[in-house]
Amino acid sequence: MTTSVEVAVPRSVSDPVDVAHLRKVLDGPWAEVRDVHRDKLDDRFLPVYGESGDQARERISRLLTELPVELGMAASFPTEYGGRADVGASVVASEMLAQVDLSLMVKAGVQWGLFGGAVLALGTRRHHDAHLRDIVAGELLGCFAMTETGHGSDVQQLRTTCTYDPETQTFDLHTPHQAARKDYIGNAARDGRMAVVFAQLVTGGQRHGVHAWLVPIRDADGNPMPGVTIGDAGPKAGLLGVDNGRLSFDHVRVPRDMLLDRYGQVAADGTYASPIADDSRRFFTMLGTLVRGRVSVGGAAAAATKSALTIAVRYGDVRRQFGTPDADREVLLNDYLAHQRKLLPALATTYALHFAQAELVAVVHEVQGSDEPVDEHRQRELESRAAGLKAAQTWHATRTIQMCREACGGAGYLAENRLPSLKADTDVFTTFEGDNTVLLQLVAKGLLTGYKDEFGSLDGWGRASFVAEQVREMVLERTAARALIERLVSAVPGRGEEVAVTDRGWQLSVFEDREKHLLDGAVRRLRNGASTKRDRPFDIFNDVQDHVLTVASAHIDRVTLEAFVAGIEATSDPAVAALLSRVCDLYALSVIEAHKGWFLEHGRLTPARAKAITALVNSLLKELRPQMRTLVDGFAIPEAWLHCAILREEADRQEAMAAHDQFPTDR
Ligand SMILES: Cc1cc2nc3c(=O)[nH]c(=O)nc-3n(C[C@H](O)[C@H](O)[C@H](O)COP(=O)(O)OP(=O)(O)OC[C@H]3O[C@@H](n4cnc5c(N)ncnc54)[C@H](O)[C@@H]3O)c2cc1C
Repeated sequence: MTTSVEVAVPRSVSDPVDVAHLRKVLDGPWAEVRDVHRDKLDDRFLPVYGESGDQARERISRLLTELPVELGMAASFPTEYGGRADVGASVVASEMLAQVDLSLMVKAGVQWGLFGGAVLALGTRRHHDAHLRDIVAGELLGCFAMTETGHGSDVQQLRTTCTYDPETQTFDLHTPHQAARKDYIGNAARDGRMAVVFAQLVTGGQRHGVHAWLVPIRDADGNPMPGVTIGDAGPKAGLLGVDNGRLSFDHVRVPRDMLLDRYGQVAADGTYASPIADDSRRFFTMLGTLVRGRVSVGGAAAAATKSALTIAVRYGDVRRQFGTPDADREVLLNDYLAHQRKLLPALATTYALHFAQAELVAVVHEVQGSDEPVDEHRQRELESRAAGLKAAQTWHATRTIQMCREACGGAGYLAENRLPSLKADTDVFTTFEGDNTVLLQLVAKGLLTGYKDEFGSLDGWGRASFVAEQVREMVLERTAARALIERLVSAVPGRGEEVAVTDRGWQLSVFEDREKHLLDGAVRRLRNGASTKRDRPFDIFNDVQDHVLTVASAHIDRVTLEAFVAGIEATSDPAVAALLSRVCDLYALSVIEAHKGWFLEHGRLTPARAKAITALVNSLLKELRPQMRTLVDGFAIPEAWLHCAILREEADRQEAMAAHDQFPTDR
């Protein structure tokens, strides 16, 4: 039976692709930083499978101090303190370290990203001069102590207090009860000597919201400082090499000058001053300066995903199961459609997110690397993009690494094949540096308020009526290539059913339309709620929360596709561009296929066109099958870093079996 639905003949990807050219495109502007890591991080830095928690902590602590200086985890610091003033390099360094050992990457991230980053961003010259050189050199190890047992997502509600006493010119840092204990804190259980501690500032009997202090927690011999209680967070699901711990403070005296006072100062007599009057707004501005941590965690999750996919694709290229009557050898796993369905759409999403991450790194590098005051709108956009991509990349990692584990069968479950540690170590990435669900609410909030100033905690979005009134037409914030996207969208030939589903402009307009429609619907529901539940602002938002989260996901899908399209446009090698273009088709059509219920419900696709998309996805899988190996080789993960026994052994095993089958013993 023929159908009137047009399914374009896929553009060919038959030209041979030079992997070196693909790698160059993926390595991007910080290729040198990537190469230094590939060159310097030898076998010594690889994970050790099966070690105890204590062994892992000991090893990772040692390796942290042995990381070659030229790598770049501390590259973001000013040159006068031993850094390179290169923010982008430090994010890329996290991605590279994540492919070697995730515990080492997280430990380094706590030291130079969270701890050092907070001293740099929230402190002033005297803190920098006193401590940054030692922090950059790894001689002063520290913690970032924000989360409490009672509050992790809603950190504006921290219960630790820090009360100024003008008589002694010191602060009194205190943990009032068990729920105010600092919890999960990286570097606290074993190695940290100082911590950036977040607490409620009180002076002259008045609270001024959450601020941060630099507090010694251990003396030179490693013993807790007076009044500081240090505990261990205990065994964890993964990241065995990171010493997560607990901190409590019993009226600890903290000198006045240890307040990290870039955003709020306390004079000797206790007078408080800040350039930002509103407590809530000040706190979110402080958090905004720490956005790089989120960008690094998203990038590290993506890097681990690339390792898992490389292992699964390469295993699927040598592993055989089941024969066919017309062939003398059993079938390679990668030749099964079901296997391609697992691996290739995940690979396409990984590529799409790679370009979105690259764009984000360029923005964070520009915004944080500049001495100019940051435009507030741009800063909000950066925070929203960082939150959304962190959620997308870490969820994608969790799903994809599990899928790769399954794609390698029983072998995928053995520690020696790397996948179990990739899975266990990245699991918590969906939670730390901001829980993903809470981050998506941040993204949605930005969309709903059109990036208007509306700070506040996300606990039910108390000021719902305010938001509902402020909502206006969605501002289509675009990725770097605004003009290109608009050109492609406006060049869509014809309408609806007539347009080929491989038309890039059509794909872009479909993503855009879905986001807009979902946002309009959420706005309508919020307005209705605001008119009928005026006295129950919590309910107004809570009743729409699922819808609002879907808006945020659709937004991230769109900006990811736009970044991929822009990345292809910037690719000069025609064969690489053609391959990426087909991978982009697979990404776009897989997303549409995954949401086809929505598209059908809303009359955006006819049933025939929805079926045609599924058929086209299958034909794309067939077309991209010969390129699977090229696509993972483009990630350029050094062979040793994969640290995976099946990759070394399976090909030999299959060859031996084939040789044996050709010469049966009874001949
Ligand atoms: C291994 C590890 C290392 C860490 N390292 C550090 C560190 O070095 N320093 C530091 O300060 N912290 C650290 N953390 C803490 C981490 O940042 C918090 O765990 C995280 O922010 C989540 O907070 P929570 O655990 O209190 O979860 P909760 O906030 O209690 O969230 C629990 C669940 O409730 C949901 N939820 C919460 N609020 C809402 C809402 N408004 N609407 C809908 N659902 C909601 C969340 O989606 C989640 O599913 C670490 C945590 C771990 C596990």
